[in-house]
Amino acid sequence: MTFSAIILAGGSGRRMHSSVPKQLIEVKGRPLLYYTISAFEKSKVDSIVLVVPDGEKEKYKNIFIDGFGCTKITKIVSGGAERYDSVHNALEVTDSDYVLVHDGARAFIEPQIINRNIALVQKYNAVVTAMPVKDTIKIADENAFVKSTPNRETLWQIQTPQTFKTSLLKECYAKLYNEISSGTFPDHVKITDDSMVVERYSDVPVKLIEGSYENIKVTTPEDMLMAENLL
Ligand code: C5P
Repeated sequence: MTFSAIILAGGSGRRMHSSVPKQLIEVKGRPLLYYTISAFEKSKVDSIVLVVPDGEKEKYKNIFIDGFGCTKITKIVSGGAERYDSVHNALEVTDSDYVLVHDGARAFIEPQIINRNIALVQKYNAVVTAMPVKDTIKIADENAFVKSTPNRETLWQIQTPQTFKTSLLKECYAKLYNEISSGTFPDHVKITDDSMVVERYSDVPVKLIEGSYENIKVTTPEDMLMAENLL
């Protein structure tokens, strides 16, 4: 069995308000993305497809393969306009039996969580790293008035990696792209993770597996301070 990781670093990082893309901001002398890649290098993953901003493949090759010697990176591909376009581009060059999709901005991922994904995807075919929510969550309308309060015991916060049998994820992405290109994909639906694609286009139940509350996505400047402390 072979396992590839798609590490997504093709976003623009608009919410970070920085001229340097967030994945290259240095924390303790190394770019944030180095810590993400390093966890996968230490895990049981066989190879890494790195997704980078359009036109920057050479730069990322220089930094991570030539500079830091990340030996598991076998392919570097350009990102697309949306996160799901970036995943789609990477899936085109992925031929392993199973694929782990991970946000490059989740730099505190631990090898043991990656290995748990690898162990459990062979049983379930679709597994998603998650943690129970600690706060009460409300559904609100567009004017921030509360509509309802879901039972907290049924709520999980979703993280990455999200891991699938590669053939399953490819089939579901093909169906998504068919709907987008034929104009039948509903405007109000926003695809924010890969599990959503599998939920929408297959009957395979998605199993939630334990992550960690430290596995945050570094998104805003405040998260960067947290990053310094965690690392
Ligand atoms: O935008 P969001 O916070 O969901 O991004 C999650 C991850 O996906 C980030 O690591 C970002 O770099 C990546 N991404 C991407 N291509 C995009 C948008 C986001 O690779 N078009």
